[in-house]
Amino acid sequence: MNRAALRREAAAFRRRGDLLTDLFAAGTDLRGRPHAGLKQRTVSYYEANSYSPASSHQCFVCQWHFHSRARLAAAFLIAVPAADPHPTAAAIGAICDACWRSESVSEIEISATRLLHRVCPGGRFPHTRTINPD
Ligand SMILES: [Zn+2]
Repeated sequence: MNRAALRREAAAFRRRGDLLTDLFAAGTDLRGRPHAGLKQRTVSYYEANSYSPASSHQCFVCQWHFHSRARLAAAFLIAVPAADPHPTAAAIGAICDACWRSESVSEIEISATRLLHRVCPGGRFPHTRTINPD
């Protein structure tokens, strides 16, 4: 997908309104969750692209850039449009292993809400929250 297509997809995503979110540890079996296939593909894509030197992927709690590989993505926040019964795109953010181990649930939720407001200004985010620290 080229940049123009990505921008169109992001704009369409924002127009769809409220988001359903899911927060889970890396490696979580997503079978049985809503939109499991889309979520798994989104995680796979994120992981495949987070550790290259050109990656801008970073922890949404501490802003650590994953391309150094000194910290790995330990958990993911995925959001899909609530109004779309068959979403084709999802937004994703990741938490580094250091934050996942040390930050409180409330700190992670505050950071997640901050991130989601960047994706969907003014949106509401009824969490489907599952936190599975090791
Ligand atoms: Zn972090």
